[in-house]
Formats: sequence, C-alpha cells, structure tokens
Amino acid sequence: MFKALWLNQRDGNTIAEIVSQDESALPDGEVTVAVAYSSLNYKDALAITGKGKVIRDFPMVPGIDFAGHVIDSRDPRYQVGDAVILTGWGMGETHWGGLAEKARVKGDWLVPMLDNFDVKRAMAVGTAGLTAMLCIDAIRQRGVNPTDGPILVTGASGGVGSIAVTLLSQLGYQVTAATGRAETNGTWLKTLGATEIIARETLNQPAKPLEKAHWAGVIDTVGSQMLAKALSQTKTNATVAICGLAGGMDLPTTVAPFILRGVALIGIDSVHCPVDKRIAAWQQIAALLPENYYTGVKAIALSQCLEYAEKLIAGKITGRLIVKL
Ligand code: NDP
Repeated sequence: MFKALWLNQRDGNTIAEIVSQDESALPDGEVTVAVAYSSLNYKDALAITGKGKVIRDFPMVPGIDFAGHVIDSRDPRYQVGDAVILTGWGMGETHWGGLAEKARVKGDWLVPMLDNFDVKRAMAVGTAGLTAMLCIDAIRQRGVNPTDGPILVTGASGGVGSIAVTLLSQLGYQVTAATGRAETNGTWLKTLGATEIIARETLNQPAKPLEKAHWAGVIDTVGSQMLAKALSQTKTNATVAICGLAGGMDLPTTVAPFILRGVALIGIDSVHCPVDKRIAAWQQIAALLPENYYTGVKAIALSQCLEYAEKLIAGKITGRLIVKL
C-alpha cells in the first residue's frame, strides 16, 4: 500500500483527500518509482483546488512532476535503485501523477538523474525550472545576447519567474523582474540576480501598438494585458518566449511589434518537450543554478498540498514548493 493525494469530483466540485492505494491499482507503465519528492506547480494548484480544468477523468492522482528511485523496471534502460526525474507527458492530468509515494510510468518519459544532482534538487527545479530554461534557450537560439539589452521576466516571484531570473543572471544578462510584490520580494529577486525591479501595475495597463523600446527579450508567465504591454515595448528583433497564463489567457495585442520590429513570439510547452532537449536543458540548469537558489526552496508534506495550492493560486507563494513523500 502507498499514500496518494486523491482527487475526485462530487456535485461538480473537486474533492482532495489523502488515501491509501494498493500498488496493483497503479496505471500501466514499464517503470515503477518510489517517489522521493514532487513539487507544487501552478497547474497542480489549479487541479487540486478545481479552479482550472486540468483533469478530465476522475479519480486522479495530481502532480505534474517527481523525482525518485526505481523499484521495479521492465525497461532495460532503468535498473532498480536508479534515481530518475519526470516532468510533464500528461502526468497528474491524464496519468496518475507525482503527489503519491509510488508512481508507474513509461520508461520513455523518464530523465536519468544527472551527475552531482539529487532528487531534492531536481524537484526544487521541477517543471518550473525546466520551462524557464526552455524559454531562455528559445531567446538565445534566436541570437539575443547579454549585450543586446535587458530581458523582462513577468511573474518574477513565481516558480518559473524566479528560476528564469536566476538562470538569466548566471548567463550574464541584465534582468528586469516584473512583480506584484516588489516591496516584499524585491530584495530577494535582486539576490537571485535581477538588475531592476518593476511593479506589475506598470505593465498591467492597456498597451499602445508600439511604445518606447526596452526589452531585448521577454520571458512571460502571465499572458493577457501584461504580455501585450511587454510586446509593445520590445526592441527590434527581440524574442518573446511565453509559457503561462497566471494573469489570463487572452492576448490583446496588435501585429505592430511583429511586422515593424521583427519581434518573434515563441510558445514554450514543457509537457511534450523531446527527451534529448530535456536532458540538455537539465544539464544546463544543474551547471548554472547557484547554491543560494536551493536554500530558498520550501518543503511541505503531502497533507499540506491543499492549503498551499490555495495560496499558490492566490499569488501568495514566493519561489518553489517541493513536496516530500
Ligand atoms: P507560480 O504561481 O509559482 O507563479 C506565478 C506568478 O505570476 C506569481 O508568483 C505572481 O508573481 C504572478 N501572478 C500571479 N497572479 C497574477 C495575476 N493575476 N496577474 C499578474 N501576475 C500574476 O506559477 P509557475 O511559475 O509555476 O507557473 C507560471 C505560469 O506558467 C502558469 O500559468 C503555469 O501554468 C505556466 N507554466 C507553463 C508551462 C509550460 O510548459 N507551458 C510549464 C510550467 C508553468 P509576482 O507576485 O511576482 O507578480
């Protein structure tokens, strides 16, 4: 038997409880893993609170990522005892996820643990960190260099935002962190490497088609009006990598930044990212993230997930939350 966070629906409401499950109930897959750590991401919080349609078939174990050790394997690439990482691939959405003591998954979904890395650090990074790195890769691959000007990161206090700030700074970029919590989190964001802090309200305004050009690149986790404003303030040939919708799913923009400044808007999907690209991103993350990033990550228990999911949706969590199984 193993413990799992269990989501069900009653009268249209999502009910979250901790249950004991038999290992025989685990879904199909070649590799069974004793989960050491999972993490609480925005998508998990939407699923657990029922505030977003993340899960279509209930009951479901949430948790879009985990790190742990193999306890059974029919995949020759993985042996009992191997440490592994999994993010995305529909885990915690269509396939039982990481907020459980055990998980059974396809071998193709796993990333082997990196040298000089461990299960706790892997989840301190988690889906958020992988996504931040994929956004940065998109900006760099289009040729945006540290000398081209500042990179704007929106939702900077969140998981993706805070890791993006840290990684960009380690790569030598000037980073402008946009946050709704400048007073409480500004100093912390500067310790992560932000060179400038701007208040969310300055961007959360209707945008003209083109405004004064500031940003050589943008990493946006918020969407909606803030993204439209950021787009209107991009420099010629800027790259804007977008991954999130914390502020809304709409995008009230115009074609002006694209046709008059050659701006590229690139969508990032970490869920279906090919394995070779993931491994390359994980290697860069492990090499780049400084020690002070990990010390700021908070660990919670499985029993605290509902409470913290509510706080995450309310924008009251700073940085990453890992869940110890
Ligand atoms: P977090 O909740 O950790 O961070 C989101 C941050 O956005 C908050 O900390 C807050 O930062 C800001 N924010 C919250 N609410 C609002 C609002 N109403 N308006 C403007 N800003 C707001 O989430 P994650 O970092 O885990 O994820 C961020 C987004 O990226 C989510 O939408 C998530 O679904 C998406 N995502 C997408 C992935 C992909 O593969 N495409 C993978 C991972 C995440 P502050 O207080 O500093 O302003």
